[in-house]
Amino acid sequence: MTYIARIEGGVMVIDLGWWGAEDALEDGLSELGASPDDVIAVFITHAHRDHLGAWRTVRHASFFLGKGDEELLLGRERPGGWIPRWADRIRSRDLPKPGELQLHTFASDTAMTLGADTVHAFPVPGHTPGSTAYLFRGTLFAGDAISHTPISGFGPARRGYSDDAELAREALVDLRTRLVDHEVQRICTAHGTCSEFSDEFWEDVLGDDAVEER
Ligand SMILES: [Zn+2]
Repeated sequence: MTYIARIEGGVMVIDLGWWGAEDALEDGLSELGASPDDVIAVFITHAHRDHLGAWRTVRHASFFLGKGDEELLLGRERPGGWIPRWADRIRSRDLPKPGELQLHTFASDTAMTLGADTVHAFPVPGHTPGSTAYLFRGTLFAGDAISHTPISGFGPARRGYSDDAELAREALVDLRTRLVDHEVQRICTAHGTCSEFSDEFWEDVLGDDAVEER
């Protein structure tokens, strides 16, 4: 999923999709009466290729990314999970070169002001080293740090897709405590499923021991 919103002075985008993402992004922007030129800020939850597809369309914008994924974004490292590695072997990656994007990275919880809005970035390492959840207008955009399947519901990042699934789960336990002071109404994963942000949601994600760990 690519999420877009009007902000002061332009449009912000969270993640950039995969094949065909350019058309989907332009369709979404036109629904807002905007064009790619209006995009001023792009927030990447992590640098797996299915989150970067339309980067060329918005390469003039400021890009925000967890520091740990910078090398992955620039193609100087390969993903750790066997599924994204295998996908790279089938079709080579089209990635920005160093210096081609205005890149802003962060390595700890960071608040960024966009006109009247604030975007809070929360590193949640494990799916990739620099995986980040973004809180914007009460919705937490968790990327692939939170997964969803029709059978098992919500869960932590999935093993075959992730660098370190244990670390990814621990990062979520930690994230939950860091979010206590924030107003969060909704959580959206990168692959199209959102939920109310509640204790039931966390029990679904973390399992029965979630309450004790808290
Ligand atoms: Zn991913």
